[in-house]
Amino acid sequence: MIVRLAIILTALWGALIYPLHGEISAESESVPAAHRSSVLVLYPDQGEDPALGELHAVNIANLVGRHAEAALAAISTYQAHDRDSHDALIVVNSTFGQSVPDALLDDAVNGQGTTMWIQPDPVAFEAGAPGLAAQIGWLAEAATQKEFPDVLYRGETFTRSPESTEMVAGIRVTDPDRVEVLAEMQSADGERLPWALRSGQLTYVTESPIPYATEDDRYLVFADILSRTLAPDAPEVHQALMRIEDIGPDADPEQIRTLLAAIEALNVPFAATVYDSYVDPTGHFSNGRERRFTLSERPYLASALRDMTRAGGTLVMHGHTHQHGDTPNPNFGVSGGDYEFFRVGLDSAGRFDLLGPLTDDSQSMWNDRLEDGFAGWQDAGLPRPWLFTSPHYAASRAAYRAMGEQFPARLERVLYYSGEARGDAPDAMAAGEIFGEQFFPYPVRDIRGDIILPETLGNWAPPGSVHGRSMDAMLETARRNLVLRDSYASFFFHWYLDPARLTELTTSLQAMGYEFVSPQVAAAVIAPLASQGIGHDPVAASRAYWGEVDSLRFWMRDQIALFILGLIVLAHLLVFSIGPKHARRRKTLTSPA
Ligand SMILES: [Zn+2]
Repeated sequence: MIVRLAIILTALWGALIYPLHGEISAESESVPAAHRSSVLVLYPDQGEDPALGELHAVNIANLVGRHAEAALAAISTYQAHDRDSHDALIVVNSTFGQSVPDALLDDAVNGQGTTMWIQPDPVAFEAGAPGLAAQIGWLAEAATQKEFPDVLYRGETFTRSPESTEMVAGIRVTDPDRVEVLAEMQSADGERLPWALRSGQLTYVTESPIPYATEDDRYLVFADILSRTLAPDAPEVHQALMRIEDIGPDADPEQIRTLLAAIEALNVPFAATVYDSYVDPTGHFSNGRERRFTLSERPYLASALRDMTRAGGTLVMHGHTHQHGDTPNPNFGVSGGDYEFFRVGLDSAGRFDLLGPLTDDSQSMWNDRLEDGFAGWQDAGLPRPWLFTSPHYAASRAAYRAMGEQFPARLERVLYYSGEARGDAPDAMAAGEIFGEQFFPYPVRDIRGDIILPETLGNWAPPGSVHGRSMDAMLETARRNLVLRDSYASFFFHWYLDPARLTELTTSLQAMGYEFVSPQVAAAVIAPLASQGIGHDPVAASRAYWGEVDSLRFWMRDQIALFILGLIVLAHLLVFSIGPKHARRRKTLTSPA
């Protein structure tokens, strides 16, 4: 009887669980830890504002991480043939007043391998070597003050911020047979100038593409040119990533189930970010009464989250409390609104002002905090997460290091620091050091060794909201990005918003040709480093996650009613099969016959 019951339960388990996400568990294969090529990225270390140049070089080196490993060095330290031990060379000479070693220019133009040279002053570039203009087939002309607000690329128009139009490089192609103009900038009256052009193995870009980057910006043009240059034969990818955002212990389980029903109707894999502990230290939203509770104290919500995993949802850790300590950072100290991994204030207009590391910042503190998060997930009966998203996309270097140790990948935009170009990365910010947020158009392994998945479209918000974008703006970005070889339509959507808008966004992206994939599929394009353990392989980690979701133990958590029914049936069977037999035997023994 017990065996028969076990078979029935197992069959039920298989029938209920496997069809829902079995195909997602199986859909990604680890890329073998193949040899990745090496790219030397040089940053400016002299002249005006070298910290800015360092930061741009860090950002460009991160983009290199789509296909190759970047090695950073200062321009002035370059010696003849340094490039020979690398497959490609990128020179980020984006600040004014940098002196360029003769050997560098010579190796860049005449050496073996691909070179990309980024400099807003092509006159100075060409003046560096006699005869260079004739050799490369284009002539630098005087810079113009005119505004060129667009960059044209592969039939699409990308934006170029008015702030970056102060000085525009004038370039005239003198030998069209030698030069391929990759992208052009365009003024309001239709005048066009080359923005990026290629002569043989030398690609020249007329400005740093990093400042003023938005979802629609020429930054994406640069990222695409870079990707095609480093890996000319890589396949075209048009994938979409859906992320449901900010599910904390205070989320409404009914609304989560309504949203889940909408996602199940779409039949797409998705991610959902979760934090496990709710804190309102001053009772801002509860009449001055302090409130703290965890996901494990909200069993209906935890059960809804487990149902999300059964429907193909990858639950993503989104911090431990989504706030920090008992003081505002910067709003009210309440979970969901505040920053957790970075100190933030409010400026006079009420906007977030990112200040620097928190006063208790240290890697061991962040490690402990992430461990508290894992414990909170375990207590709530959720599978161990392998993906992380920093609250409000901000963290200190120490916090990123802790995340890098505990998670094989993250899905987010990331802060990088100028000092990281030099490799010295103390936890505290150095004097004069700057930082900036970077978003990625495709998955990369950044210069820290962390795999970062793209977020390219931002989030939908109802009209009148301060943060977020309109449906039209998001869809226009996605449509334009189809000209990029690696285009990812990756967005997030708050759980409490109208599911009909999520459906509209999803079906519109599908109609454009985007295929929705789970995060592990996006992460699998970056081969794990041979030196890193299995804990740093997102595909292996995601398999462990799905294994947990598939386990009988996980299934049993939400089958208490069925479990009790099973016990009743079992008791019933015992009474009617074993019970009467015993009775019969006793009868036989005692009957006088
Ligand atoms: Zn959040």
